[in-house]
Amino acid sequence: MHRKQIMRLSGRVVDGAVSLTFFAAGDKDRPGPMSVRVYREEHPTFTFGKDYEEYFHGLDARSAQEIFAGTLEPLNGRKFEFRDATTAVGGTYAYWVRHEQDAAPLGPAALRVRDPQVWWTEAEIERRLAQIAEPNGGLAEVVTFGRTIEGRPLRGVVAGNRERLAGFVGLVHAGEAGPELLIPAAERLVSEHADLLQGAGLAVLPCVNLDNRIRLVEGVPWYLRRNVAAVDLNRNFDAGWDVTDHMYGLDSTDHDSETYRGPAPASEPETQAVTDFVAQCRPRVVFSMHCLASICGDSFLTAKAARQDTAFLAEARTWAETYRHGMYPNATRDLAFSCGCSTGSLPGWLYQHARIPGFDLELGTNEDARPCVTDQATPELLTTYQARHLGGMRAVLQRLAGT
Ligand SMILES: [Zn+2]
Repeated sequence: MHRKQIMRLSGRVVDGAVSLTFFAAGDKDRPGPMSVRVYREEHPTFTFGKDYEEYFHGLDARSAQEIFAGTLEPLNGRKFEFRDATTAVGGTYAYWVRHEQDAAPLGPAALRVRDPQVWWTEAEIERRLAQIAEPNGGLAEVVTFGRTIEGRPLRGVVAGNRERLAGFVGLVHAGEAGPELLIPAAERLVSEHADLLQGAGLAVLPCVNLDNRIRLVEGVPWYLRRNVAAVDLNRNFDAGWDVTDHMYGLDSTDHDSETYRGPAPASEPETQAVTDFVAQCRPRVVFSMHCLASICGDSFLTAKAARQDTAFLAEARTWAETYRHGMYPNATRDLAFSCGCSTGSLPGWLYQHARIPGFDLELGTNEDARPCVTDQATPELLTTYQARHLGGMRAVLQRLAGT
């Protein structure tokens, strides 16, 4: 069999440009410049949430366009890089690279170029968090609640009255909502509502599944739900963990399932960071953002295990109504409220562990949010939802403060 001259093609989006990297095959530590051709094909029919990795299997470079023919210098040792700064935001692309001596190209590497205003980079998240804590004389602080599997710090913000905190959590599922909604709301609450924060406070852990979030920010085209160990964090909490969940027709004990619960209760460091966050902040109520692609609606799901607990459900419903009223002061439709959170979920654990009302927030009947389902959210749509969730969070704090 003919051995290729290059191997291990991969790509990521860095500062809006696609960076393709590959390595020289063979045993030369320091190969010379290499003559290659790069081919690209845009795939507008790729649909986030419906299409997965296999969409790109079997694609043929012969229908792709040659976008480069020339010589590349090695980047370091046997590694080479080609950068493509001519992609469009929202575009999904397949790339191939062919060495001049190879009959067939290497690839495809698949990448989706996302809007950094809608999908924040790790650096942007860190910068915005640090800014919240800066100028406010101790009103807000940034706290590290744990680390991801890959060692990324899981930071949050705690602000205002530490004895009466409401908790807000994001990105339990990597491809869903969190930092882009919660951090701007925290910024506004800290900078504009110092009086309110005397009576109540907020504890925000915005990016629980940060490792796979970064993969999406860096261009993985398809929806990612689980952490890098393939565990669904919302099945990993120690609350009825050993009871198999069959939501979506999947089996939470199956490692291949998108709802895989993990090898043991709270086995994942990200899950432990959330439980540490709850232990340290002792929130009176917790809202966890789901839905898709940085946007989240006003459907409130609490623990299935609480179904028969009418006193708990009455209190939980009041919190959901408070948040919803803050989001939509003039809403006339019924509140979307149900006991939909399975065993091993965060709301399930909050209920079982400490009877804390906890909610997964989903799309609900927010028709204008629908573009997020296929990763079509615009900065304008995000701005709309940032304002709505600020309203919801502020209303919760007002109720906590008794104002
Ligand atoms: Zn989710």
